[in-house]
Amino acid sequence: MNAEALRVENLTVTTAAGIEIVSGVDLTVREGELLGLLGETGAGKTMTARAILGLQPRGLRATGRVRFGDGEWISLAQPELLAKYLGRTAGLMLQNPMGAFDPIKRIGPQLIESVVHNGLMTKAEALARAAKLCRHLGLGDAESIFRLYPHQLSGGMSQRVALALTLMPAPKVLVVDEPTSALDANLRVEALKLVQSVARDDGTAIVLISHDLGLVSRFCDAIAVLYAGHLVEYGPTSELLHVAAHPYTATLISCSLRLDGPRRTALPTVGGEPPLPGHWPSGCYFHPRCPEARDRCSLERPTFVAGAERGVACHFARQEVRS
Ligand code: SF4
Repeated sequence: MNAEALRVENLTVTTAAGIEIVSGVDLTVREGELLGLLGETGAGKTMTARAILGLQPRGLRATGRVRFGDGEWISLAQPELLAKYLGRTAGLMLQNPMGAFDPIKRIGPQLIESVVHNGLMTKAEALARAAKLCRHLGLGDAESIFRLYPHQLSGGMSQRVALALTLMPAPKVLVVDEPTSALDANLRVEALKLVQSVARDDGTAIVLISHDLGLVSRFCDAIAVLYAGHLVEYGPTSELLHVAAHPYTATLISCSLRLDGPRRTALPTVGGEPPLPGHWPSGCYFHPRCPEARDRCSLERPTFVAGAERGVACHFARQEVRS
C-alpha cells in the first residue's frame, strides 16, 4: 500500500454568521492515487478542497487539521501556516486555466520562474522538467510551446499547460477543480488520462473535484461523496459503484451518463433541490429527497460510520459496509 500523502481531519467551514457550510469532513489520499470528490453543485466540494489549502474565500473560517505526507499536523484555522506549503507541497489547478497565466509573458518563462525563484531547481533543471512535462502531457515540441503567449494556446492546450505549471514543483498533493469543464467529451477523457498518468509517475496524490460521475468512476481510485457540506459516503471506486451504501450515492449513479453507455435523450435527475446553507432540514439532510426515507430519518441525523476502507452516514446503510 502506498504511503499516505494527504490526511484531513474534521474539516469544517463556517460563515461569519456562524452557518456551517462544510461540516466535519475527514479524507485520506495515498501517493499516486486519485480521490474523486463528488456531489451536486453547492455540495461543498470546492470549498472543502480550497480549505485544505487554506484558500477559502475571505470571511469564511476553516477549522480542523491537515497533514501532508508524514509531516506535522497543520491547523486549518491558520491559513498563513498553510501558505508555506502552497506550490512546492500542495497545488491547486483551477477551473479557468487561462487565469493561471500572465497574458504578456511567453509560456516558457512562466513555467519555470516560480520554481527557480523559490530555489527548488536551477534554471536548467526547471527547463528540463518543463520540457518533460510538456512531452508527458502530449504537448509535442516543448521549445515551440515555450515561445507562445497564453492567447495563442487552444482550450485543450491551455488546460495542459496549466497542469504542467501546477506540476512543476512536483507537489505531494494536487487539487484539480473541474479540470475538464472547458473541454469537449473526447478531450475531457484525454486530459484526465494525463492527470492520472502524471499522478502515477510522480507519486502525486490528486483530489479531483467533479460532478461528473462518469469521469470520476473511470479515473479515480476512490470516491468521497458530499451532500449539503457533509461527507455521506466514501470507498474504493469499484466497490462503491458495485454497492452504493448511501441512497444519495445510489441516486447519483442512476442519474449519471456513462461514458461507455448508450446515448439517452433525457437523463434522470435527483428529485427536488439540495438545501441552502442555514436552511438545513431536521434529521438526515437528505431525507426530503431520499427515496428510502423512513420516519426516523426526519428526526435523527445519522452519524458517519467509518470502516477501514469504506464509510457511510445513513441509518439504513447496508450492514456489510458498516461492519
Ligand atoms: Fe435516506 Fe434515511 Fe439514509 Fe438519510 S438516513 S439517506 S433519509 S435512508
